[in-house]
Amino acid sequence: MPWSTEALWHAAQDAFRCSLSQGPVRMAAARRSADRLAHQLGLLDDWFEDLAATTCKGCPDPCCNHAKVWLDFQDLLFIHLHHETLPPYQLRRNLHERCRFLGLHGCTLPRLSRPWICTWYICPTQRQVFERDVPGGMVQITAVLPRVKSLRQEMERCFLTALGLTAAV
Ligand code: SF4
Ligand code: SF4
Repeated sequence: MPWSTEALWHAAQDAFRCSLSQGPVRMAAARRSADRLAHQLGLLDDWFEDLAATTCKGCPDPCCNHAKVWLDFQDLLFIHLHHETLPPYQLRRNLHERCRFLGLHGCTLPRLSRPWICTWYICPTQRQVFERDVPGGMVQITAVLPRVKSLRQEMERCFLTALGLTAAV
């Protein structure tokens, strides 16, 4: 798991800030990808906020208690490029503890500061409720997911290209 200690976390943020200070022209393509990504995530947020209000609040076994997830490179790159709220530390220090941002009423992070996988995951209960309450909604959500994935890759590629590097395959 990346950046699990305080020192590693802060070093990573400094590295992102330093890389992004390379100049607005060089980073313009990466920022445009981040803008388009924010738009797609905003669409999902509109759907998921209502959905979470009806499903997660009374959930007997919240998935966040078990999910082995963390902020990855693309998550952090998006947060920096799009000036989203930067969480003060990685979601967990090790694979045994639960996410440190799970509060009494669900996730305490803004949607655009969460790992993408937290938005991507739609549990069976949510899927059922969504299909019942929003006819055709699952089709729309399913169309957005690959767009988000592709924009994340494009954003990373543009960022690395601006630095003269190549994205890992
Ligand atoms: S996403 Fe599903 S499993 Fe997770 S907390 Fe909400 S209702 Fe529960
Ligand atoms: S960041 Fe939020 S949604 Fe993701 S695991 Fe933590 S509490 Fe759950």
